[in-house]
Amino acid sequence: MLIDGPASSWFKPVLFEGTVKLTDLNLFGVSEKMAEAAKMAPVDQCVAWGIPFVVNQVIVLNDKPVEIDVDPFKARWIVFMHTSDQRIAEKNKDGFITPLRGEGFLGELAATYHLCYTDGSESQMNIIRRRHVGAFQRHWGENCFEAVAATKPHSIHAAHEQLREAWGFTQTRVDTADYGEWVNWLWAWETPSPEKTIKGFRFEPGAGKIVLSGISAGDVTEQPLRWGSRKKAIIALNAGQPFLPDLDDHGCLKQLKLDLGQIISARPRLLYPDKGWAESNNNSLPQLSKNELLVEYTCHPDACFHFEDGQIIPVHEIRPQRDTLLSVVQPAAKTVHLRIVDKITGEVVPVKLHIHGEAGEYLAPVDRHRIVNPAWFEDYGPEYLHFDWERPGVSHPCTYISGETLVKLPLGNIYIEISKGFEVKPVRLVFEVLPSTDEIIFEIEKVLLWREKGWVTADTHVHFLSPITAMLEGAAEGVNIINLLASQWGELMTNVGDFDGHHTWGSKENGGNGEYLVRVGTENRQHVLGHISLLGYRGNIIAPMTVGGPDESALGDPVDCLLTEWARQCRSQEGLVVLPHFPNPRAEHAVSIVGGDIDAIEMTSWENVYQGIDPYSLSDWYRYLNCGYMVPVVGGTDKMSAATAVGTVRTYAWLDPRIEFTYETWKEAVRKGDTFVTYGPLLEFNVDGHTMGSRFMLSSNGGTVQVPWQVASVTVPMTRVELIVNGEIVESTPVSPQDGIGTWSYKVKKSCWLALLVRGHEDGHPEIVAAHSSPVMIQVIGSPLIAAADAVTILDQIEGSLAYIDTIGTRAEDRVYKKMRLILDSAYRSLHQRMHQAGYFHDHGPQNSH
Ligand SMILES: [Zn+2]
Ligand SMILES: [Zn+2]
Repeated sequence: MLIDGPASSWFKPVLFEGTVKLTDLNLFGVSEKMAEAAKMAPVDQCVAWGIPFVVNQVIVLNDKPVEIDVDPFKARWIVFMHTSDQRIAEKNKDGFITPLRGEGFLGELAATYHLCYTDGSESQMNIIRRRHVGAFQRHWGENCFEAVAATKPHSIHAAHEQLREAWGFTQTRVDTADYGEWVNWLWAWETPSPEKTIKGFRFEPGAGKIVLSGISAGDVTEQPLRWGSRKKAIIALNAGQPFLPDLDDHGCLKQLKLDLGQIISARPRLLYPDKGWAESNNNSLPQLSKNELLVEYTCHPDACFHFEDGQIIPVHEIRPQRDTLLSVVQPAAKTVHLRIVDKITGEVVPVKLHIHGEAGEYLAPVDRHRIVNPAWFEDYGPEYLHFDWERPGVSHPCTYISGETLVKLPLGNIYIEISKGFEVKPVRLVFEVLPSTDEIIFEIEKVLLWREKGWVTADTHVHFLSPITAMLEGAAEGVNIINLLASQWGELMTNVGDFDGHHTWGSKENGGNGEYLVRVGTENRQHVLGHISLLGYRGNIIAPMTVGGPDESALGDPVDCLLTEWARQCRSQEGLVVLPHFPNPRAEHAVSIVGGDIDAIEMTSWENVYQGIDPYSLSDWYRYLNCGYMVPVVGGTDKMSAATAVGTVRTYAWLDPRIEFTYETWKEAVRKGDTFVTYGPLLEFNVDGHTMGSRFMLSSNGGTVQVPWQVASVTVPMTRVELIVNGEIVESTPVSPQDGIGTWSYKVKKSCWLALLVRGHEDGHPEIVAAHSSPVMIQVIGSPLIAAADAVTILDQIEGSLAYIDTIGTRAEDRVYKKMRLILDSAYRSLHQRMHQAGYFHDHGPQNSH
């Protein structure tokens, strides 16, 4: 049985007595392969492309004509469900085929079909191969020009949305359904004399064999096998009933179907604040309609929607009014050239872009995803989906463009959002598309001149993108450097082919403009001991990239490398060592920090735009600063899906404007520690002229230091600026949402570190830590910078790491294991000794009692 959706009432099956059972095809001269496949051929009641058929005995056209009688009927269209046997084209003496009609014998006369009218006259049609009929198994590329394979194409859901093989294939979200053991072909004959009554058919054989399974007749207005361009409609549901898609075996919606057509997608309508669009917040999520569905579909003009409860609505009855069950959405049919230019330079610039129409429908450029997929490792196109896993369906799709693109737009108002990082004012605009609109130009304006002062931005942590896509996304987000990290995930290796140990994409020596760079490094990982990012190192890849078994490494991989060893290897290859998504997994990085093997710790956004810098991460970092370990801060997103935008949280590092900005000089800037991490607000801060990341001495009397600061933001509105000293807030000053400036005096009595913290919040979201500087450390002579309570917790981490490799960690070969143990032990002793020297004592664990 073949039922590919509901049947259109425009068609009725034409019943006839065939001559052959499909199971007996072998007796009628067809190939063995066809006779075998016939066991899979559809029988009984069938619906193909919304057209009903009844298949009983079939007609085989071999060498004799066949005549059948039917109950008399009139029709404009008769649809034949038939197919044909395959043949091998004969080769000539040289092994070539000439003339070549192809595997499908294109143009060959396969049969002649005759309509027999009650008045004794006839109409006749030549059935030509690859026009009116194809083979029972379709070879790739051997399609018919006037006939379609008898199962209609349909949408499919992405791999994470359904249990189906082959996630790569599911990314297309469409299935042609034109393959299988037995393919019938549908050919629709527009009858030459629809006013005449048909009483029978006569079929005359041509070359090769034909199997005719079914006939259907109907009165539609045009070719029944041709569907129209995609359209959209709003469906009003019973209020209060949330829409949960219920899928059939093909992954198609059960709740709503089309007979002569197909549903492309059906999702709750997104409700944007269109009335106050220009004043609303960049990147904010829309609401989700509780009683309206946005449906996208393609169909024949005489098609009908079929609802689960049996209700049927013809598509041509849908009107624009919103008071009906179904209402039309203005089709996006006007192709418009879109350009985004910098207000000052007039140059076309890469940006992040979102456009929607009056019904909240997302309007992607013609070469960008219309349905952006937020799942892990499933969509690494230049897309961003602001997405809320806790509220399924609530999403705000965006894409990255070079600054110029083609987009198909509806007539009427469109709602546009354009952004480019933290120094350009993001805009939301309304634009009316007219029939005469061919080109639209929008301007953006850089208002915070931080880059001009020497500040360089970076995302220290991005996965899966291709280097060139990463460069586009970086430029469009105003991120100067994307560190793309190859890694291993169980048996999966990602971006390893992009690693070559020397190339910086976008650099001047490689033909770029030198302003937006991409460099491939690695993130090396162990699920207990921790993760470590090795940025921009030269030479060979530092591998293995993961050790010690699942979930980061594969089963059976021993723990045969420490984070600290990876760090040292990276530095020996001139790389930058970053502890990513600090502090978890929380273990051995204590050793690396104590050993001085780390260049920076990373604050991470993951997929959450509104979470801000995690106070948990800050608290963990403060422990090391409290013990005198100077580690600057950087920002990286750990982007692993389209649900994270590169640079959501980012690093600002200051580079003397007299020095040329390159990847190498950026690494040096991070090592110096003149950095801050931010979700939007920009800052400058020093202590008595000493920049972030530096240390200086005061006499044993201490003294009063001056702390000038300045902040500005065009994205996240700011609320307060705070001075943090040794992990405590000692000053808290309110600022305007856009900017603030001031100077504090701080009386230093003992060794300490000072840092600037900026709070802010977006409408409707809690206040967050929106930016944080690297510290300035002050050494007061005679006052050691070490906090006993913090030091003990660091020692616990080191002891835990030792316990892990001693007990459950898959054991490396003896020499390697002993070397690792030595490294852990020496860090333990170093901190332990400092504690005792400072006069602190504590309970010793079993590993290190003395
Ligand atoms: Zn990680
Ligand atoms: Zn990562």
